[in-house]
Amino acid sequence: MDMTHWLSVIGLVLAACLIWYFIAYNPWAQKEWEQLPTLKEYRQTHPYCVQGDDTACCHCGSTLQLDVGLLQYTDWRRQTICRQCKNRLWREMDQ
Ligand SMILES: [Zn+2]
Repeated sequence: MDMTHWLSVIGLVLAACLIWYFIAYNPWAQKEWEQLPTLKEYRQTHPYCVQGDDTACCHCGSTLQLDVGLLQYTDWRRQTICRQCKNRLWREMDQ
């Protein structure tokens, strides 16, 4: 096997890693997501929103939420948004 073949293989692998890093992982989205509190932190910060097992939205008081992926539906980085006012409430991680 000649050297140029291996260099192009390495180049393709590197390109695939870079594409994954910027498109799927997206460091900017990751940073924004990390700024959201976890459910536990959210319930500690907004004790008046804790209603038994339910956690209400601290903006409008609704207990209806949507669990959405950060960048796409299947994203392992989940965020919970309020169904009513669409504010982002807390983050979760898919196991
Ligand atoms: Zn709300």
